[in-house]
Amino acid sequence: MILPGVVHLGAENCVTGSCHLLQWNGLNIMVDCGAVQGSDRAVPVSEWPAAPEDIDFLFITHAHIDHVGRLPELITAGFHGDIICSHPTRALLGVMLRDAINFMDYAEGESEKIIDIIDELSWGFEYGQSFDLKRGAVFSLGRAGHILGSAFIRFVFKHAGDEYSVLFSGDLGNVDTPLLPDPEIPESSDLLVLESTYGNRLHENRKDRLFRLAQAVSTTLEKHGTVYIPAFALGRTQELLYELDRLFTEEEWRQRFPVFSQYDSGTAPVAVFVDTPLGAEITEIFSSLSQFWDREAKELLIAGDHPLDFHGLYSAVGFHDHLRLLDYEKPAIIVAGSGMCTGGRIIDHLKQALAKPENHILFVGYQAAGTPGRDIVRYSRKPDGYVIMDGERIPVRAAVTQLSGYSAHADKNGLVEWVKSMREKPAGIKLVHGEPPAQRALMKALGRQGYNIF
Ligand SMILES: [Zn+2]
Ligand SMILES: [Zn+2]
Repeated sequence: MILPGVVHLGAENCVTGSCHLLQWNGLNIMVDCGAVQGSDRAVPVSEWPAAPEDIDFLFITHAHIDHVGRLPELITAGFHGDIICSHPTRALLGVMLRDAINFMDYAEGESEKIIDIIDELSWGFEYGQSFDLKRGAVFSLGRAGHILGSAFIRFVFKHAGDEYSVLFSGDLGNVDTPLLPDPEIPESSDLLVLESTYGNRLHENRKDRLFRLAQAVSTTLEKHGTVYIPAFALGRTQELLYELDRLFTEEEWRQRFPVFSQYDSGTAPVAVFVDTPLGAEITEIFSSLSQFWDREAKELLIAGDHPLDFHGLYSAVGFHDHLRLLDYEKPAIIVAGSGMCTGGRIIDHLKQALAKPENHILFVGYQAAGTPGRDIVRYSRKPDGYVIMDGERIPVRAAVTQLSGYSAHADKNGLVEWVKSMREKPAGIKLVHGEPPAQRALMKALGRQGYNIF
């Protein structure tokens, strides 16, 4: 049997922008079609081994922009195959793309048309079931625990009594993530295409990172400062609301941090603003998909504590609300996008906030090289550090903390354990979606366990 070939079509250096082409028996199957980040350069469509109109299927592991951001480009380039993903991903796809397309060069009518085409082409599928594709190819989706709807995708190619399986991890989450069931154990597969974002890091456990979040928020509020949290609208924003709700509600945290117990249980000590219309919209979609939550979140809901809501939580949806929030003088907690400070409303906040030592900037996600978020973390450690935002030189005097445990990605041990949970070793593992040091460290860790990496 001729084995399927896998080509990476994301960033030329294989670091950001998840985008792959799987070719077998005349079938062209794409897995993800993500935008690259920071200073990475994407492989142009004209250099792909298959023309977009010849691609039969596009599978989407989850709705993050680094996995779906080039979908409009793919549609304009002539793709008209089926788009396959989980049900929650399908529910999130339109909102994510509608937001992303605003930053692309499309006329207004045209962008709506593209979104409509994507909607018509896309299909939601159940987790844990096998579905026939075409010509002896079969696929199934497994829970990846990264964000709501995230899936790893396993393909089986059958020909004349032979079969060969390929597993794409997509982005893999941590165990014990708020709202989400843990990543599932994948079936053994011949080839594994594995993400490696945190292949060289070990995260704190949930309790430790919740403690650090509590500590950062509590010390800032005691100093009458404001906490700014740059966060991705999809996933991280909801995770944070969930954790803040825990801090303001659970007796344990209220006793350990007196600032949280100023008011009744379930009431925030200061106003918490979600200053991202996209984040607010996605939070509503998350709320409507409670059948995909984990047990803990479902139990809270049944007990009458909506895990994504508490007293003192406000959404700044309109731009006018955002402008008013910039004039808000009392201490607050402000969650705004983008997560790596590459644009969005967080920029206006940071331009005002960074120079004031009473404030605290809390990074809760991965900061890619070449992004302002990475610069802020870096220059906050230097005396007289500053960053350039919108052409202005802004001194970094605010406290800056990076809570790595809040990553939606599994760490080195998580990745290795997930691979080890497969009953049989894959014949080969291809590492993607990670910076070279992360890929090297993960390669070493897996190599020590006897895995074959290439
Ligand atoms: Zn992701
Ligand atoms: Zn990703």
